[in-house]
Amino acid sequence: MACTAPPLQLAEALFQNAVDQSAIAIAITDTAARIVYVNRAFTTMTGYSADDVIGRNQSVLSYKTTPKAVYQELWANLSAGRDWTGRLLNRRKDGTPYIAELTVTPVTSAAGESDATHFLGMHRDVTKEYKQSCLLAYHKQLIESVVSVAPMAVALLDSEGKVILDNPAYQYLVKDLKLKEPAHAVLAILRDNLGEGFDVAAARRRPLLNNELRFERTGAEPRWYSCSVAWFEEHPTAIDAFHQNAKSVYQLLLMHDISGSKHQQEALGLALMRERLSENEYNQTVREALSGAIFQLQGPINLIAAATRLQRRRVGATAASDPLVHALVEAQDAGERAIATLQAAIPTELSAPVGPVNLNELIRDVLMLETETFLAAGVTVDWCPALILPSLQGDPSALRIVFRQLIRNAVEAMNTSGWRERNLYLGTSARGGRIEAEISDTGPGIPETLRFKVFEPFFSTKNDCKGARGMGLSVAQDVVSRHRGMLEIDPEYTNGCRLRLSFPHNHPLPKKPEAVE
Ligand code: FAD
Repeated sequence: MACTAPPLQLAEALFQNAVDQSAIAIAITDTAARIVYVNRAFTTMTGYSADDVIGRNQSVLSYKTTPKAVYQELWANLSAGRDWTGRLLNRRKDGTPYIAELTVTPVTSAAGESDATHFLGMHRDVTKEYKQSCLLAYHKQLIESVVSVAPMAVALLDSEGKVILDNPAYQYLVKDLKLKEPAHAVLAILRDNLGEGFDVAAARRRPLLNNELRFERTGAEPRWYSCSVAWFEEHPTAIDAFHQNAKSVYQLLLMHDISGSKHQQEALGLALMRERLSENEYNQTVREALSGAIFQLQGPINLIAAATRLQRRRVGATAASDPLVHALVEAQDAGERAIATLQAAIPTELSAPVGPVNLNELIRDVLMLETETFLAAGVTVDWCPALILPSLQGDPSALRIVFRQLIRNAVEAMNTSGWRERNLYLGTSARGGRIEAEISDTGPGIPETLRFKVFEPFFSTKNDCKGARGMGLSVAQDVVSRHRGMLEIDPEYTNGCRLRLSFPHNHPLPKKPEAVE
């Protein structure tokens, strides 16, 4: 806005003193850029006194390397009556170069006049600033180059969780895992897996190193990443935070692809697992056979006990000398001794150490172990694992037996002569703090009346009575319950049988109850 009348007439001397003593280097030239005035700060900055430069062109300061186009632009603006601001490489009187940030303003003889009579030049030495910004740009470029060639996925997240820096390996993950922001999925799963430990580490800025996460990919081998998270603090760069001391917390996520070595380990582990599983199954079969025998024996012994009580009542006082009572007592004792012998012969249950179990991994192992069963029965398998699944605390060998049993049950149900549709579906998901698994088959299903009965020990829908039938679902439910989980038949499913399993994650496994005599 143009001022028509100054509110106060300031003395000329005051203007003179103000410009003379200004901390900014000032030069006034005529319209041909010949210097007519310089202040003290100009002399301090350039080394030239007024006597040295009055009457000389401002080009006296030029280092003679500034491109012509810069001067052309400067002069084009001044000729049009406009200010110009830019950076020039200048030389001091002693020959040292410096970078000047120069603002030139045309000065007219009176307000409203269009032709300039003089030019006012204000110089600032910005050499230090320039060097710092070059250094910053260099470091930024260096960091970006290092991050971009790093053979691991890198993502830097700001305090709002927004990814503000990543690299090509991270971008590859976005495509490969079909995730919009893999960092969010990884951090969520680490938080789930580590519980409070994650927040404690974040609060203490303690890095979390080498957490191995498995990513399922439908129709392809799973991928394994070793994930590390580090936290650090920085001053916020937002202008409105200029006077604030608070620092922003950044998260650095590094993901190293370890799929190669994991697949090798898995192949080795599978052979070992097969061996352990058959050992476990043998143990389980013996346990079931002996429990079955005890169960069968208990009936007649109960009958003998009842007959003994009856005979005792019948003969009354002469019971001690009654030969039948004597024979019955002997038979009952012999039976009870036999039961005790059988009970003592039941082998103790084999169990692996309790630890984090990933159901995706466990089910995939079982599916691989059962490949031949599927081929022999002509069953097609549809395996839909959740992309990432939190771990549950559990006994991996017991859970492996559960899934093997449920899968075998499903295959057996469909593997009857003439049965056409033979599809097995397995899926996992994580929701509401629980890990869920589903096993569906297209077999004949389980009638509604038997939905609870099938979980009873020694109950079987098959009449062939080979071995200890009817223990599979009962044992499975027992193992699932020990993991604070649930195993149920989906009553809504009508195309066969659908079993739903669900487990809480991050729950320690309760102690196994002592074997019930
Ligand atoms: P020149 O031959 O002087 O000019 C180069 C280009 O500028 C040519 O294209 C020419 O046509 C054009 N040009 C030159 N003079 C005029 C004019 N009067 N009107 C229109 N176009 C013209 N230069 C520095 O290097 N460092 C400084 O710190 C600096 N401070 C300045 C402060 C003020 C107030 C002004 C007005 C100019 C300043 N200059 C400065 C510019 C300087 O006057 C020279 O134009 C410049 O240094 C180039 O000089 P030269 O001898 O290499 O080329």
